[in-house]
Amino acid sequence: MIQDIAPHRLRNAFSADRAPSAEHWLLSYRGNAVLSAAGGLRLPKVADYSAQALHYAFSLDGVPVWLTNDALPETEGWRYIESKIYRAMTPQEIAFACTVGESLHRWHCANRYCGACRTELRDSKRERALVCPTCGAVRYPRINPAVIVAVTDGDRLLLTKYADRPFSRFALVAGFCEAGESAEDTVRREVWEEVGLRVKNLLYYKSQPWAVADDLLLGFYCEVDGETTPTLRDGELKLAQWFARESIPNDYSEISLTGEMIDRFRREKTVDK
Ligand SMILES: [Zn+2]
Repeated sequence: MIQDIAPHRLRNAFSADRAPSAEHWLLSYRGNAVLSAAGGLRLPKVADYSAQALHYAFSLDGVPVWLTNDALPETEGWRYIESKIYRAMTPQEIAFACTVGESLHRWHCANRYCGACRTELRDSKRERALVCPTCGAVRYPRINPAVIVAVTDGDRLLLTKYADRPFSRFALVAGFCEAGESAEDTVRREVWEEVGLRVKNLLYYKSQPWAVADDLLLGFYCEVDGETTPTLRDGELKLAQWFARESIPNDYSEISLTGEMIDRFRREKTVDK
């Protein structure tokens, strides 16, 4: 998965004590494209641009990475790369850092002013948050919990395709958690809404910070319970089909939790940890 970057390490811990210096990395976005060296995936250093108002993002292999909310200009050596391109590029640790930074950038851009009193928000000195100096409102980074569900029936796995998204590969049932809902109840609700099936024996597998869409994905395997014929119910999917283990198409992303879960089922006899 994209976050599996060991032995490299991205540390998210907030720090208000740091100050940018010339050798630190710099993240700048234009829409969902990141500023990178032309001809490869490499971030500019703080010294490469005279960017103002930098926000501490995280450290990568011990080197602080700073975020600017301004789209810095392209030059001969630096170009913007769209996220759908860069997240599959190498080095993977840089691609992952760019996705995390993109999520923080989106949060900053969507929270420039207090939604209660319209005052300009400021960086908190204590934690990763934006605070309103007038009314005290606090805005934390938005992270959206969602489930990815591998529905199985013995040696068969239920694969889906979205009806109206550019993503054309096979996928698994997926959906966002509602307010007041456990992840397990989200699994049961989404499977019922999307394919009209009941499930049992839920087994949590792994999570993935899919920062490209500000999600925290929670992966579950589960077994179909009772009726096994899928019915497309809510229009989100154009296909839901059972595949025997040996006939599962080798057509999934190596950087996504969905891809890892499909691949794991395809390769193994069981899904036990
Ligand atoms: Zn306010």
